[in-house]
Amino acid sequence: MTKIKAEYIWMDGHKPTEKLRSKTKILNGKVNSIDDLPLWGFDGSSTMQATGHNSDCVLKPVKYISDPIRGSNNVIVLCEVFNADGTVHKTNTRAKLRELAEKYKEHEPWFGIEQEYTLFQGFKPLGWPDNGFPAPQGGYYCGVGADEVFGRPIVEAHMDACIRAGLEISGINAEVMPAQWEFQIGPLSALEAADQTWLARWLLYRIGEDFKVSATLHPKPVSGDWNGAGAHTNFSTKAMREDGGIKIIEAACKKLEKKHTEHMVIYGAHNEERLTGLHETCKIDEFRYGISDRSASVRIPLATAKEGKGYLEDRRPAANMDPNLVCAKLMETVCV
Ligand code: ADP
Ligand code: MN
Ligand code: MN
Ligand code: MN
Repeated sequence: MTKIKAEYIWMDGHKPTEKLRSKTKILNGKVNSIDDLPLWGFDGSSTMQATGHNSDCVLKPVKYISDPIRGSNNVIVLCEVFNADGTVHKTNTRAKLRELAEKYKEHEPWFGIEQEYTLFQGFKPLGWPDNGFPAPQGGYYCGVGADEVFGRPIVEAHMDACIRAGLEISGINAEVMPAQWEFQIGPLSALEAADQTWLARWLLYRIGEDFKVSATLHPKPVSGDWNGAGAHTNFSTKAMREDGGIKIIEAACKKLEKKHTEHMVIYGAHNEERLTGLHETCKIDEFRYGISDRSASVRIPLATAKEGKGYLEDRRPAANMDPNLVCAKLMETVCV
């Protein structure tokens, strides 16, 4: 029987921000459904998920995509982590999102995640000079030309890989800081948006290996007068997308205002370095929402305001946020 390679992916217990881990399992024959992918295990003492005496953790496949790098019938498998006794591991943030997605399904929540990231070669952003800095920000955002953008072959390879894998990538763009880029996933249901964001992140790191370039999701990879990296989370419910939805969107903004501090706790580590009130952000301890306002915490896109329905953009999440936590929190706050 033909052998296939299944790359099992999971989130580890690294603090303050989890990292992705993966390993390959060889299977006999083609994968036709999630049930063809067996449970597997790993050494949790090497991933900050267990102690040495009791180190076995369980990987449970929850979603698979065709592997755009290895091709043929090979697959990439997103897993949830469980303890050996079958209980949910404390690092398994997807378990809660699963529950909340079910609880609030009548609202038909949609999410679109704008994932910003920065390419690094060694200790400096890709294409930056060995000494000093590139010219100040201004021409890089959506730029073109070898003097404006760095790393386009990687970005193109990643975008193609996402499409081949069947991910709902909706676009890419060069960002305000040179070597910083963005891809967007969605709009999709909560679980799909979160799963696909994690899978697209894994593909980005993996493709970077071939170029000897690493991608970081640090929210402020270079301090000073350089834009940080966020993961704007666009959100809507069925009621927001229907006529008169703007009223529901405004009500949602007021609910988000009341829970601002709770949200900030799970919106990514080091986010205080990014949310300074400069560089298209609102200050971390302030909450403001506004139409077309890129210095607000939550922006109502102009098209949404004009049509009187649509979605809101939560601009607060940092690039290194866990989409499982962010999508869960948005539903918990807004869908009540
Ligand atoms: P920006 O102008 O903020 O850079 P982008 O075009 O990068 O916006 O991202 C907008 C995101 O909003 C996309 O990921 C898209 O899928 C998502 N989106 C569009 N419509 C909706 C909607 N009704 N609900 C949730 N997300 C949406
Ligand atoms: Mn964007
Ligand atoms: Mn952006
Ligand atoms: Mn945005």
